Amino acid sequence: MRLPVKIALLLMLFFSADLCYSYVQKELRPQTVLKERDVPAALHPLVKQNAEILQTAAAKKGITVVITEGFRSIEEQNELYRQGRSKKGNIVTYAKGGESYHNYGLAIDFALQKKDGSLLWDMTCDGNHNGTPDWLEVVTIAKKLGFQWGGDWRGFKDYPHLQMIPS
Ligand SMILES: [Zn+2]
Repeated sequence: MRLPVKIALLLMLFFSADLCYSYVQKELRPQTVLKERDVPAALHPLVKQNAEILQTAAAKKGITVVITEGFRSIEEQNELYRQGRSKKGNIVTYAKGGESYHNYGLAIDFALQKKDGSLLWDMTCDGNHNGTPDWLEVVTIAKKLGFQWGGDWRGFKDYPHLQMIPS
């Protein structure tokens, strides 16, 4: 077989294997979407960028958004999971280490900041007096940027939580 033909065949094989692979990936996505990812040591650059865009867009509406949580290591997640179970306090998460989007640098938690600098987790406050609670305005912007909101989850709702899977 001539070399160009060999190369063409190899390329065809490669592309069909790749197509097949991406199909399987899509099929299994709900279960493996997190497990198949590398565990980073920081927020994904695109998530970080979108978090900054969110802050800028909210600021234009007179809302100060503070990112209170970003990347969380597996050990930190397990520690958080113990809270309200083997440790004192309220349950704050249902995800063990490796099960949270925070562990993959794909999630942030936010809070609002008042003029006096204190943080606010009030979902009804309409600080910019435009008839819509500031919290929901932030969520609307976040969703437009491609974030999924923890407040939309069935069962346990995590209102400060935003996550995304960069494509
Ligand atoms: Zn979160």
